[in-house]
Amino acid sequence: MKIGFIGLGNMGGPMAANLAAAGHAVAGFDLAAPMPEGVAQAASAAEAATGAEVVITMLPNGAILRAVAADILPAMGPGAVLCDCSTVDVDSARAVAEQAAAAGLGALDAPVSGGVGGAAAGTLTFMVGGTADAFATAEPLFDIMGQKAVHCGDSGAGQAAKICNNMILGVTMIATCEAFALADKLGLDRQKMFDVVSTSSGYSWTMNAYCPAPGVGPQSPADNGYAPGFASDLMLKDLRLSQQAADSADADTPMGQLATALYQQFVEAENGAGTDFSAMLPRFEKRGRG
Ligand code: NAD
Repeated sequence: MKIGFIGLGNMGGPMAANLAAAGHAVAGFDLAAPMPEGVAQAASAAEAATGAEVVITMLPNGAILRAVAADILPAMGPGAVLCDCSTVDVDSARAVAEQAAAAGLGALDAPVSGGVGGAAAGTLTFMVGGTADAFATAEPLFDIMGQKAVHCGDSGAGQAAKICNNMILGVTMIATCEAFALADKLGLDRQKMFDVVSTSSGYSWTMNAYCPAPGVGPQSPADNGYAPGFASDLMLKDLRLSQQAADSADADTPMGQLATALYQQFVEAENGAGTDFSAMLPRFEKRGRG
């Protein structure tokens, strides 16, 4: 398949590399990131999209997605599918899908879970909104980049699933980090804490697969000085998207609200931006009750 890939950063780079390694012809464009092996460098986003059957975007936010979509939709051929894998607000996902449909193109919002490790290993989970036809076109690509793709419903449904998932992720990471910090103060060895919790009812993805304590559990950003991984500012972005959606849908999300406030404080007032979102653990370590 001929694929355009726009946004080849921490996530998009390895995703595009996996598509190229599987034998697809991938043309990539990024403002800054280098092209991974096997991906042809295009001179612009529009050039990457020209002649592609599927154009994948993996960009920082909805405003950038809207700007890139305005560039590439006119360059895409009839029947081609724009598959946005970024995490963006539901409104941007739906607006881009409407523009694509008006131009005779397919569109999917297909955000992912699994992080940079999942992107590199080709084990992401895709949560997808859009038509059944567009989903069928992109499904073979989801199978290469991931281990699971769930067609969640119409345009926007993928982003809805993603922000609900990430609200759980932010809340759970905070809970895991504050429990480690409490365990430290109670004199409990971190490895013992992991051994117990990872096989008890407090287990979670943040404990078992992405442990925030260095040297404990599988390799994670904590073992690399908290270099992202999944940056705290991106976690804050997703939590804000969840609270924006909760406002517009009139949903009561007190834990999500608190997690948003804590990540906001960490990112904006405590130099947390640019560190992995699991760096909440050293943050809690430094603090007392007051
Ligand atoms: P990143 O910042 O590493 O990559 C984004 C890339 O987009 C950068 O390389 C940037 O140069 C490029 N870019 C920005 N504007 C552009 C433009 N106009 N044209 C072309 N390229 C442009 O971020 P990331 O970690 O790869 O995340 C990408 C998306 O995936 C975000 O929406 C994020 O929320 C989501 N996500 C990230 C993770 C993770 O663990 N990092 C996990 C799931 C979802």
